[in-house]
Amino acid sequence: MSLIVQKFGGTSVADAGKVLAAARRVVDAQRQGHQVVVVVSARGRKTDELIAAAAEITRHPEPREMDMLLATGEQESVALMAMAVRELGAEAISLTGAQIGIVTDSSHTKARIQTISTERIRAALSGGAIVIAAGFQGVDDAFNITTLGRGGSDTTATALAAVLRADECEIYTDVDGVFTTDPRIVPQARKIDRLSYDEMLELASLGAGVMHSRSIEFAKKYHVPLRVRPSGSDGEGTLITPTAIEQAPVVTGVALVRQTARVTLSELPDRPGVMSRIFSQMAERKIAIDMVVQDVGSGGLAEVSFTVPDEDLAETLTAAEQAVTDLGAGRVHHGTNVSKVSVVGAGMRTHTGVAAQMFGALADAEINIGMVTTSDIKISVLVERTEADAAVRIIHDGFSLGSEHAAALAVGWDHPASGADSSAASRSELEQDVVSRLAAMEDIVVSEVELDTDQARVTISNLPDRPGTAAAIFTAVAEGGLMVDMIVQNVSHSGQTNLSFTVPRDDLEACLLLAREVAADWDGANLTFDREIAKLSVLGIGLRSHTGVGKRTFGALAEANINIQMINTSEIRTSAVIAAAHGRAALEQLLQTFGLNPA
Ligand code: ASP
Ligand code: MG
Repeated sequence: MSLIVQKFGGTSVADAGKVLAAARRVVDAQRQGHQVVVVVSARGRKTDELIAAAAEITRHPEPREMDMLLATGEQESVALMAMAVRELGAEAISLTGAQIGIVTDSSHTKARIQTISTERIRAALSGGAIVIAAGFQGVDDAFNITTLGRGGSDTTATALAAVLRADECEIYTDVDGVFTTDPRIVPQARKIDRLSYDEMLELASLGAGVMHSRSIEFAKKYHVPLRVRPSGSDGEGTLITPTAIEQAPVVTGVALVRQTARVTLSELPDRPGVMSRIFSQMAERKIAIDMVVQDVGSGGLAEVSFTVPDEDLAETLTAAEQAVTDLGAGRVHHGTNVSKVSVVGAGMRTHTGVAAQMFGALADAEINIGMVTTSDIKISVLVERTEADAAVRIIHDGFSLGSEHAAALAVGWDHPASGADSSAASRSELEQDVVSRLAAMEDIVVSEVELDTDQARVTISNLPDRPGTAAAIFTAVAEGGLMVDMIVQNVSHSGQTNLSFTVPRDDLEACLLLAREVAADWDGANLTFDREIAKLSVLGIGLRSHTGVGKRTFGALAEANINIQMINTSEIRTSAVIAAAHGRAALEQLLQTFGLNPA
């Protein structure tokens, strides 16, 4: 028998009418022959109200008591939902996180799931009941109630879907699905029919945060087919699946992180161990770092920049100063009022010219690019916050994401065979298998370390820091039909900036010809290249929601005494350029660090 998990967010259970409407969907699903597990969030603004209630009493509520309080929101919802389901004539049982046996660590208000028991849910389902599970909560070893962090019900839903091997996990929400960008910024934004986990992860910061990114990490790790659907209509929503669809549009969406701050460490010694020192400082303070950019050093000095949430800036600066003191060299600068704009699309892996088009659109609108970093399916730029909305609009327009044509391309996806027909015995074996790995269920998973020895690096330094510079370079390169891989632009100094990127080594000559021609237009621009590089990438799940990946990656390279020339990062990969001669050794060191077997 097939099993589905349906999750209803706060707005979808805000009043009695909505609870009954949700219950009707649940009961319908059961009548269609599915076993149904429902996960609900607190109603409406309940969680915010509870937080406000605590604030009226104290400015520093005890985290344990905060969780005790917050968990009541979901408890109210499950009880009402169970009553509604019964009212419609079906069997239902509501369960709190503790009653299910969702065991978490003891980090109150941001706990991570460690184990989930399935016996009670299975027994209730076999008895014909619909199980109504409280989202967002669990219990630690000592039976203290914990919560998973804001938006955590999505994580409960995907985690339950994972351990129960659900055939689908449906996330009901007040929007029609995942959009090409935030419709509040771009009214022409279009609903995406299907996309891959990786694209969804890269887009996780999109709009109003359609889903908790930790929940997508779960779904990816345990291959849970996810569907984000509207609770107010019969819309099909957006299906999120393991692989990108064939013929998918090159660009799937445009994401914006409005509130971000930039921290730069400059005049650093360009030698092994430096990046490791810096990222250890950040990891110790559990600062989640985004968008790391290190450009090729010059004159024996290196420079790294990264972004952090605005609220972490002060602490990050303290950590950065500490790192500089430890290193005995370097300077710390920072920039505020910046925003990160990204284009995401699985098709970028095989299409040239995406960067040129993105940078071109920004140049036409006279928007300057502060920093650039890329992954194989994403290009992110930092812009002034006042220009962020315009940047999103222009890029969305530039890639015609609002047009039906783009939507029509997204066809031809096949639902992977589900476990619907697996026997009870093999199902429980599968369950055991997942459960046995659950102890570390939310641990970071580094799935792969890649070594790419087929690329060469091109750097153009002393470029004018003004709109159109990057566009001119990448347009020229794209017109030559060359695939650009890793692009890095660090912050500018005194009106000048550097841009580095990698291209297939076989295309280096062609690329240099093209780049030289463009660079000739700028006085003082200087072109250098390195044929003998290797690019290492650490790929995985949870890279961003965990703080230690940079620390471990750069720590491993430091241990092997390998200097890092260039870095860039995304939600799903951290890449570094090193000397080609060190490629093998670095690969081995990283495989060992992350407990992976050499291929
Ligand atoms: N009620 C919690 C919150 O508002 C959890 C959730 O909605 O997912 O953050
Ligand atoms: Mg929510």
